[in-house]
Amino acid sequence: MTPVKRPERRRVVLATRNPKKLAELRRIVEPQLPDITVLGLDDVAPYDEPAETEATFVANALIKASAAVAATALPALADDSGLCVDALNGMPGVLSARWSGRAKDDAANNALLLAQTVDVPDERRSAQFRCAMALVTPHDGERVRTGVMRGRLLREAVGDGGFGYDPLFVADGQLLSNGELSPAAKDAISHRGEALRAIVPDLVAVLAS
Ligand code: IMP
Repeated sequence: MTPVKRPERRRVVLATRNPKKLAELRRIVEPQLPDITVLGLDDVAPYDEPAETEATFVANALIKASAAVAATALPALADDSGLCVDALNGMPGVLSARWSGRAKDDAANNALLLAQTVDVPDERRSAQFRCAMALVTPHDGERVRTGVMRGRLLREAVGDGGFGYDPLFVADGQLLSNGELSPAAKDAISHRGEALRAIVPDLVAVLAS
């Protein structure tokens, strides 16, 4: 029997190579859109992924989603996110993934950030995770939603869950670090969860059109 081919509009690409981020995105999107096929970048033909050269999370998210649409002709979601430390004037910000100079080396990034903030007193250790989530489609243009998780920077890593700077961060209202939170507890309060939940209605509208 010939397999039934899903119409293109029922599929969406999540344009990230970070497996932990992809898992977070899938956890949030899939229950809300059970009849949609969510593809990661490993599920589509390889293409030249753009460098994240822009100065804002929004612009970088749009670059990533637009490149995925150009390569796949499918609607694409991409996020750009990072940790903004007030005592560092908002850095690492868009440079979060490569703050230590070595791309995606979480241990080196965390060690450098702790060293840079060693003299910052407890009352000035506020920080926020920020996320811009872009939805770009072949025919319906682009939308961006944002999310933020406010909290404070710890003085040492606590917990080994999550990814990136999670063990160094306690969100406002929490007793546990992000590295100790369950995936569901983090999703409920995270910058990425907020941005993704905000963009789901846009995605539903695009896929229904
Ligand atoms: P991106 O993949 O270019 O968006 O880089 C995001 C970087 O920001 C990650 O590599 C982490 O260093 C940091 N980051 C973003 N979101 C989170 C989070 O939820 N927890 C911990 N670190 C994060």
